Amino acid sequence: MLLKGKTAVISGAASKRGIGRATAELFAEHGARLAILDLDGESAKEAAQTLPVNDQGSHIGLRCDVSNKAECDSAAQAVVSAFGKVDVLINNAGITQPVKTLDITEADWHRIVDVNMTGILFLSQAFIPNMRDNGGGSIACISSVSAQRGGGIFGGPHYSAAKAGVLGLAKAMAREFGPVGIRVNSVTPGLIQTDITGGKLTDEMRTDIIKGIPLSRLGDARDVANIYLFLASDLSAYVTGAVIDVNGGMLI
Ligand code: NAD
Repeated sequence: MLLKGKTAVISGAASKRGIGRATAELFAEHGARLAILDLDGESAKEAAQTLPVNDQGSHIGLRCDVSNKAECDSAAQAVVSAFGKVDVLINNAGITQPVKTLDITEADWHRIVDVNMTGILFLSQAFIPNMRDNGGGSIACISSVSAQRGGGIFGGPHYSAAKAGVLGLAKAMAREFGPVGIRVNSVTPGLIQTDITGGKLTDEMRTDIIKGIPLSRLGDARDVANIYLFLASDLSAYVTGAVIDVNGGMLI
């Protein structure tokens, strides 16, 4: 029970096979009370209802488009009035688009950057005051191996740029808010089998990709959820501004 007595907010946790949902399940098993924020509000509510309830009370699910500052602020108000204090924020929501540089439209650029990077700023701004006033907290931000390699299989250059921006933003927030007890770290997954990736892989692509992974398999959502759990818990009490790879050794 690594999160007993803690409250946690997870963005992008509605999708059934996703990293956020696996994280919500793992956090609930570890005793946390959860708020699930997602663009898909109905699925967020349904996800919150299906999580195991612990002695802290029921979980909540809310619609929130992380790229919309007003929605982030009102979701934070609703969560704070339900929970009182927020200990953990997992900035997990994200979208991808497999296009090449010359094909990226202005609208594509803004959409990918707004959801993957700006959304992390907006949601962090919405929850940091509560964490600061309650003596601290832990924020984890989702980046990607695409930021480190300059591209992935499913993300375009705008995705790589946004996910690289997340690393700088998280480090800057870690530096700024360390003195008030808020830790901020990033996670860089490799290829994880979820709706973003899973359905689109042919057997040939899978075999090819696995050849470049020393641990000889693709990741699953729990592999990333376990790292979020470490970052959310007091096991990582002296870790801030870090970037944790979860990629089976893909970059060695
Ligand atoms: P997923 O599609 O299963 O989950 C993404 C979730 O984010 C969905 O529930 C979706 O509804 C939600 N979402 C989308 N736009 C949103 C918005 N504007 N506001 C709020 N919620 C929104 O995908 P996943 O693979 O679980 O991805 C989770 C995160 O991990 C993403 O940020 C993704 O970029 C990142 N990531 C995934 C992989 C991978 O291989 N799957 C690798 C590296 C990084």
